[in-house]
Amino acid sequence: MTDTKEDNFGVIVIGTGFGGASCAALLANKGIKTLLIDKNKFFGGKAFTTTIHKHKVDFFSHLLCMGGAGEIGAVLKEINAFDRIKFLQTKIGSLFIYDERPVDIKANMNFGTIMKLIEWMDVKEQAQLQQVMDAFAFLVKMQEHQFDQIYNLTVEEWLEKQFPNIPVTFKDFLTLWCGMMFVNPAKYSSAGEYARYFTRILNSKAAGYCSGGIGYIPELMAKTVEENGSVVKMGETVEKILIEDGRAVGVQTKEGNIYKADAIVSNVGIQPTVLKLVGPEYFSKEYLAYVKNLIPSFSGVRIRYFLSQKVIDKKYGSILVYGANHNVKFDWNTMSKMTFEELMEPINLPVFTSIPSNFDPNLSPPGEQAILATAIAPPNPSRKQWDILFDKIEDNLFKSFPQISQYIEYTDKANPKAISEISGRNIVTEILPGVGGEAVGLAQIPEQVGYNKPSPRSPIPGLFYVGCDANVYPGGGGVGLEQATNSGRNTARLVFSYLFGKKLRTL
Ligand SMILES: Cc1cc2nc3c(=O)[nH]c(=O)nc-3n(C[C@H](O)[C@H](O)[C@H](O)COP(=O)(O)OP(=O)(O)OC[C@H]3O[C@@H](n4cnc5c(N)ncnc54)[C@H](O)[C@@H]3O)c2cc1C
Repeated sequence: MTDTKEDNFGVIVIGTGFGGASCAALLANKGIKTLLIDKNKFFGGKAFTTTIHKHKVDFFSHLLCMGGAGEIGAVLKEINAFDRIKFLQTKIGSLFIYDERPVDIKANMNFGTIMKLIEWMDVKEQAQLQQVMDAFAFLVKMQEHQFDQIYNLTVEEWLEKQFPNIPVTFKDFLTLWCGMMFVNPAKYSSAGEYARYFTRILNSKAAGYCSGGIGYIPELMAKTVEENGSVVKMGETVEKILIEDGRAVGVQTKEGNIYKADAIVSNVGIQPTVLKLVGPEYFSKEYLAYVKNLIPSFSGVRIRYFLSQKVIDKKYGSILVYGANHNVKFDWNTMSKMTFEELMEPINLPVFTSIPSNFDPNLSPPGEQAILATAIAPPNPSRKQWDILFDKIEDNLFKSFPQISQYIEYTDKANPKAISEISGRNIVTEILPGVGGEAVGLAQIPEQVGYNKPSPRSPIPGLFYVGCDANVYPGGGGVGLEQATNSGRNTARLVFSYLFGKKLRTL
């Protein structure tokens, strides 16, 4: 990356997660002199791609739920980079295995696929069959105002109310999606947020991957920041956001540098930004209480298997192994008081599996395979007994694919502690025990989505948040990387209008 002595900017964006990278790319593209800075030496935060054991694999995101047809595609088009990346799908689609019974479902879902699903769900009675058909039809045709009406219900409450008689296999299918989309149980995720993005994902028919791995997207976004004459600094950690006369005016880094700007955008998360990077002394008691009470999403544990042979021949986009009784029963308030055994028993832990080389064969050496297997976990990075979860992943996965165990050359494992270190949210764990390892950001519960979503505007003029924690409504929300990028777009607009009217530091 280019180096520069110039240290005054129009805007500083802290973090190259999908939120920060997209926001910086859009602002630099508009001619605002931007500094994009990250403590890591790689782009993408919780979604970077690297090479280990000769395989390119993703840490941690592994699927683009709307391919290039959603927010990510929209930003790439806006910065003129859409053609520099290839969005990929597999012909077969995804494999679902429910209680050891498999079915594959194409991203391009049609009537035939729905009938196949219904058969797989073992729905035989005419009345139940009709209920499932009606429910599918209802879901894909839902309108914007209908989503808004159910934002204050949880997914479980809404399913009970809307589809009281659907078979349990179908309910399990729908609630599995909630865990996949939000890394958050159906018991306390918002129904409006769920239904809106479940429908959009189905209708986009574009779920998939991209050439070069997921981390190539934020890397490309950062490249365009430089191509537009702005600056990218990697491997430099922001320790303080500087406040002068009540305004955010710059950042100070661990490496001893000070950079000044008219606006600061933090991709680090609201809690770490307020409580650590700025410091509580700059906020009112009420705002601090609000920030401290925000609830994180769940986290994930991941095993990566590096295999000397291809053991899964069919090119599935993802493989989901689950069964009856997979829904966790606890919520944020009860979770911290429970032991690991209480949390996870008797749950039939679903396993989300992906094989990046099924999309892009260049990611693994010929004839070999890397398999990523992930399960939901509490976000507390300080918990100790992760092996309970790793064993559950392995039990469930090997039941359906026993051949994996024969060809393992290496495995490596990641838990919420690793996630918290990559995202930088570990700086808040000391103050807020149990928080830091969240997979997404703030939990998408009724109190924290829609009109209740925290605003990208902080109470300090010139300080903004970007990424999965903050967004504007209507129009803001989504799933994982799509949500982070959507926040990047919306925050870029807010920052642009904040800077406009002031003396702009343009290029
Ligand atoms: C196991 C797992 C699997 C997932 N799978 C998927 C998936 O398949 N599809 C999907 O859409 N989503 C998935 N997600 C969710 C997705 O990864 C996140 O929602 C998304 O990456 C969040 O992006 P963000 O921009 O909000 O923040 P982050 O990605 O957390 O980015 C924050 C950035 O800020 C930087 N930073 C932090 N502190 C500092 C500091 N002090 N100084 C400088 N820089 C700093 C970090 O280094 C990082 O680059 C998954 C998450 C996990 C953990």
